[in-house]
Amino acid sequence: GDLGELQPGLIVSHFGQQVEVEGDDGQRQRCHVRSHLDGLVTGDRVAWHAGNPTGVVTAREERRSLLSRPDSFGKLKPVAANIDRIVIVVASEPAAHANLIDRYLVASEHLGIPPLLLLNKSDLLSEDHPLHAVLARYRHIGYPVVTASTKVDHGLDTLKATLRDQISIFVGQSGVGKSSLVNSLLPGTETRVGALSDAAAKGRHTTTTARLFHFPEGGSLIDSPGIREFGLWNLDREAVTAGFIEFRPFIGRCRFRDCRHEQEPGCALQEAIDAGKIDDHRVASYRQIVNSLEE
Ligand code: GDP
Ligand code: ZN
Repeated sequence: GDLGELQPGLIVSHFGQQVEVEGDDGQRQRCHVRSHLDGLVTGDRVAWHAGNPTGVVTAREERRSLLSRPDSFGKLKPVAANIDRIVIVVASEPAAHANLIDRYLVASEHLGIPPLLLLNKSDLLSEDHPLHAVLARYRHIGYPVVTASTKVDHGLDTLKATLRDQISIFVGQSGVGKSSLVNSLLPGTETRVGALSDAAAKGRHTTTTARLFHFPEGGSLIDSPGIREFGLWNLDREAVTAGFIEFRPFIGRCRFRDCRHEQEPGCALQEAIDAGKIDDHRVASYRQIVNSLEE
């Protein structure tokens, strides 16, 4: 059929060889993808032509960031592009697994995507709960922390303001309240999901493909079960070390260029630890993560 003029667009979901594109007018349409543009993902900015019944995508803009995860063969596959913010959701119940926050932070640093720590279920939290001290440590390192509750509608306005003008993903262990948060931030999403595409409803990828949603107050969310489970894939020791941002002033200053920061003489990191410049919890966590990589 006839094609409309070339225009900018945003990939809001993808299934097999086809994508769903949103034009600047907010209208969405199924599109084919020109064959040289392999691997378009949700969040990609593209140039496309509207068409009847399907449009066509002809070009992709450079990506600000790219989130990948391993396929069933262990090969990293892109799943979402241009994410500006990784919202790490934690709660007192279920308590975060040891190292989980640090693992997410390392992954965020590795991807170059700024993280936000979101303490949900604040209604369950007494003033002297140990989680306050844990989060204060991350604030001290420089990470933003916000507190919210979907149960008593606390902190959600601050959260909405923080998420404006950017594309976010929510990660965190099961039960911390990610679905509840998404439902609070995206009223009426069920209907909008259903309205996206009948092909998506029929397809096998309905529950796995990443989808982009707009918050009514501004900003967007890319969400899928796979994204919520995103973790520390294929990172080596150097990447983990670089992911502990408060270590950075000391890395590269050790006596031995290949220092593993495990009690070697002249280790600048150990000197910083001994001088109380680095939090013991983070050091213990760092060592555990590095050891787990080598198992
Ligand atoms: P998900 O697995 O991370 O998506 O978590 P859910 O959104 O399914 O929430 C898990 C449980 O926590 C549900 O029983 C929710 O009702 C509950 N929950 C979610 N947010 C809050 C909150 O702010 N306060 C309390 N007390 N419970 C919450
Ligand atoms: Zn060292």
